[in-house]
Amino acid sequence: NNLVIAIDGYSSCGKSTTAKAVASFLHYAYLDTGAMYRGVTLYLLENGIAFDDMVRIEAALREDIHISFRRNRRSGRNELCLNDKIREDDIRQMRISNAVSEVSVIPMVRHAMVAQQQRLGRKRGVVMDGRDIGTTVFPDAEVKIFMTADVEVRARRRQEELAAKGEHVPLTDIMENLRKRDHIDSTRAESPLRRAADAVLLDTTHITITEQVDFVLDRVSA
Ligand code: C5P
Repeated sequence: NNLVIAIDGYSSCGKSTTAKAVASFLHYAYLDTGAMYRGVTLYLLENGIAFDDMVRIEAALREDIHISFRRNRRSGRNELCLNDKIREDDIRQMRISNAVSEVSVIPMVRHAMVAQQQRLGRKRGVVMDGRDIGTTVFPDAEVKIFMTADVEVRARRRQEELAAKGEHVPLTDIMENLRKRDHIDSTRAESPLRRAADAVLLDTTHITITEQVDFVLDRVSA
């Protein structure tokens, strides 16, 4: 009951859906590391801080940006808080998805987030999803999964998710966003998105959520 399960991969492959279900089955904690980068992005946008203003970003990370999670008792989900205010819905909007990858290339931002993720995962018994968990945050994670799927399939799933929250976005816009994020995420200098040598590949193009979850759970008991 003390494993770290790292789930990395491309945007919108079903990482968080899978990670949440695995965590709930194993009674593990779940940490959505992408939400943290989204929270920082929301702060910078709302406070008019340019993504190349390293002086203000450094000060903001040190003094003004407090990222945490709060459990919603009704849904049982962890919701992202920025400075103790729940901002879960705001960080999922397209304007954040369109900007977040530019913020997550900033080494200072990564260092702050990775340090907090390592603190939060220290107790183990945790499932984390992100881009660099198996390579950088917990390179010694016992279970490492690397998820991928066809970009159009991913875009359709994301479109349904957004529509359920009342945001209707054309498929082409979503596909463009996913391609752009995958590109920036996998070509950045600091801890780029890539499969760790010991991560197991999971392609979700043609499988159901139940199958994804079982695939990970099989790796845990193996
Ligand atoms: O997982 P999600 O799509 O919410 O992540 C949003 C963005 O945050 C990613 O596109 C990536 O730029 C960044 N991210 C990251 N490292 C992580 C998790 C997310 O750089 N561990």
